[in-house]
Amino acid sequence: MALSAVEEARDIINNIKEDIKEYKGKITLTWIRAHMGNFGNERADQLAKEATLISDETISFVPSRNKIRNEGNKIIKDLWQNRWNDSKNARWTKNLIDKVNVDRLYGDFYINQILTAHGVFREHQARFFEKTSLCGQETGSVLHVIKECEIWTSYRKNWPSGWQLMSLKDLINNADIRILLRGLLYELLIKELDLLSSFSETDVSRH
Ligand SMILES: [Zn+2]
Repeated sequence: MALSAVEEARDIINNIKEDIKEYKGKITLTWIRAHMGNFGNERADQLAKEATLISDETISFVPSRNKIRNEGNKIIKDLWQNRWNDSKNARWTKNLIDKVNVDRLYGDFYINQILTAHGVFREHQARFFEKTSLCGQETGSVLHVIKECEIWTSYRKNWPSGWQLMSLKDLINNADIRILLRGLLYELLIKELDLLSSFSETDVSRH
């Protein structure tokens, strides 16, 4: 087995391996029986005994690959968190997600509509198209559509009890309700697309 094949964390061993690699002469490694008066072996035993008297602090370890990766990830995450904390943008999203986390980078088309307040919500669309709310009672904000809009009253009937008291953040983070939210967003998109395909001013204002 090549000397370099074994990963080693102890500096002292790595230094020995380096010394062997750099040595220009011939080195042969062979197994020998211990305590048989072999000069090199007796010397090694003696040094090993002396080494037990040295305090641990003189032996340093290089960090393992895992440790380097974990520390690197932590540094990146801290930088990301600081940037997120300081950012003046995306205040809506920040309110729903205050801690950065790569686990949350899922590509959920429907839930992302809520997290960003962009996309299908008319309050966002109104910036471009001067739309009114689908129900005509509000601007079509995320909170209105999800928690209040009467268009979806029947749809919310089967939601777990107590959902009204939950914040939008808690609703999204609840695995069961998240599926229901996804369903509502899906229905909302279908409804908007239907309206779009048979578009006329009267169709929009009738809702
Ligand atoms: Zn409404």
